[in-house]
Amino acid sequence: MKSRTSACTLAFLASLFALEVAASDLGPAPRDDKGRFTNPVGELTHGSIGVRFPFFLRRIAGSFRDRPGAPERIPNDGSFLRENAGHSVPTVTWIGHATLLVQMDHVTFLTDPIWSDTASPVSFAGPRRFVEPGVAIEDLPAIDFVVVSHNHYDHLDLPSLVALARRDPDTRFFVPLSNADLLRENGIENVEEMDWGEVRSVQNVSVHCLPAQHWSQRGIGDRHRALWSSWAVTGSERRFYFAGDTGYFEGFERIAQALGPFDLAALPIGAYEPVAMMKESHLNPEEAVRAAVDLRAQRALAIHFGTFDLSDEPLEDPPRRFRDAARASDLGADGAWVLRIGESREF
Ligand code: ZN
Ligand code: ZN
Repeated sequence: MKSRTSACTLAFLASLFALEVAASDLGPAPRDDKGRFTNPVGELTHGSIGVRFPFFLRRIAGSFRDRPGAPERIPNDGSFLRENAGHSVPTVTWIGHATLLVQMDHVTFLTDPIWSDTASPVSFAGPRRFVEPGVAIEDLPAIDFVVVSHNHYDHLDLPSLVALARRDPDTRFFVPLSNADLLRENGIENVEEMDWGEVRSVQNVSVHCLPAQHWSQRGIGDRHRALWSSWAVTGSERRFYFAGDTGYFEGFERIAQALGPFDLAALPIGAYEPVAMMKESHLNPEEAVRAAVDLRAQRALAIHFGTFDLSDEPLEDPPRRFRDAARASDLGADGAWVLRIGESREF
């Protein structure tokens, strides 16, 4: 009896601690003296001009050539997903890049939806898509809400967001601070801005806007004007984390203290070369595994690789290194999920 009482006391103290972490350490997002958003570690390095300029030339050259090693794609006509929307077996489906369709706790939602052929402001140029989206937009089940991590073109794809809003005016769009105007200017009304540490309810789940170590820019002169974030969706049956785009940072442990453990954490594993340019704002596969362990995730799902021509590493390297790193860590081989594009898996 005594040990049971002390366990309850410990659990109570732990819950108080978790609330304190949630309230004080996850938000609000820091700003600099000009009101622009920043990271807790300050300004990130993006490499010297001597690294960045040849990188952009290689991306232009990449528009004209194929690269081997893109992920496999399997057909998915969405029929199971539409039927499952009424029952909600917890599933995750990789549409491609950072776009996931998740069903849990009787809600259906999308992360960073992009169906466009290029991740850029114009359809005829910019990083090209290697693999078609895993499910067509018209085959999707009804979408309760969408979370968007930041305004880079491979994550905030206006044609996809507009198509989703037109398809169902009841779909809610959650974006980090100072991103909502862009959606409203494009006719999307049902949009809500959130700061790090804020929470909204959708039916049976809570949607948490959370820190990430990244940056924002969509045009000239708008760097760091809009916030970036990661997201968690928590319900009584499942707890899901979506990292968006991020470098490795101590925030993963704080997020786990407040909201962990997670049944599934989606973590970016690609766009890490050239290292001098990417290392502070993108995870490499080994760091993604370390983040999953920090987050106390039972399984980590690899995203943000193999879909668009965004970076220099060979396309087949991220999933191989991710599996190898997981095998050598507490996550284990079974905890490292690499799906085919179009594949749905129960979690
Ligand atoms: Zn980004
Ligand atoms: Zn990205």
